[in-house]
Amino acid sequence: MREVMVIKMEWKDSYPQTKKPSYKELLDYFLPPIRDLFVRFDDEMQKRFDVHNKYHKYLKTQGWTYGYGRNYNCELLKVAIQSDSFLVLGVTVEDEASLQRALDEAKRVYDNGFEARYADLCEKRRRNQIERAKNRTAREKAELSALLETVESTKLNQFRWCKKVSRRDLQRLYQSEANGMIDDVLLDEIGYAFYARCKQSKEILPLLEQGQMKCHHCGSVLYATGYASITQCECGYCYTYREYRRSFNANDMPAHRAQPIFDAFMEKWPQSKEPPQKMMLIDWLIHAFHVTLMSGEKGRSVCVNLIEGTKKQISDMILTLAYDSGV
Ligand SMILES: [Zn+2]
Repeated sequence: MREVMVIKMEWKDSYPQTKKPSYKELLDYFLPPIRDLFVRFDDEMQKRFDVHNKYHKYLKTQGWTYGYGRNYNCELLKVAIQSDSFLVLGVTVEDEASLQRALDEAKRVYDNGFEARYADLCEKRRRNQIERAKNRTAREKAELSALLETVESTKLNQFRWCKKVSRRDLQRLYQSEANGMIDDVLLDEIGYAFYARCKQSKEILPLLEQGQMKCHHCGSVLYATGYASITQCECGYCYTYREYRRSFNANDMPAHRAQPIFDAFMEKWPQSKEPPQKMMLIDWLIHAFHVTLMSGEKGRSVCVNLIEGTKKQISDMILTLAYDSGV
């Protein structure tokens, strides 16, 4: 009987520079006993040193190699792949004993100042960020003073966003309802405030997304002349697109995630004629916020889009509101 010899292709030939292997392909390349050793090695790297196999690099001599680190500039070690083993810090890992030697070697390199190197890098990155923010602020300040030479500051970026509803007013409304004497005036004020804010956002956001703005003083639609340059309205007020957009976000204008809730409210509010109907709709809206709060969705909760206060303050307030809509 002729012996069949399986010749395993070299790693470098299996995966040339233009063919980066997936993680599965890497695992498949190993013979099963070596694969087990590699998986254990990978696991130990994460557990012991919190470094991850994320920094892949093609080297002429070794082909695709796998750097273990916490970020691109802070690598603990590199793993090279061989047809019957893998190579870590000069140790060829092919059995239990060599795996242990490789782990010892990794520990030695780690103890030799890895954490200090990482801390240093984080600190540098933090300082860079601060520097960049400072530069940006200085640049924007210079841009602003240049703009103010051409326009009056009282006419530049004077935004008027529809107001949010105060928590106190909401509590007063619920209290009046609980006392059997619903405060009609307050009810209308609150409902209209919610409505106006949703409507303003619904009008302005699509404009912003097309590089347009709506003058907050005369209602004209303006085409932004640039990101940081001045766009002048015929009424005398002027805007920069950048500040307009920032102001929209900074004021928590309702948008995006909870749009269906806002849309439903906007549709129903004008149709609600009687106080109980209006109260029920407001309660529905508050409840919709509450559900979003409870579901723990990522990002800021939608209640901050319409009610004054922090997410926590609003959440606490909503819990105190007692209302039985009978539904
Ligand atoms: Zn205008």
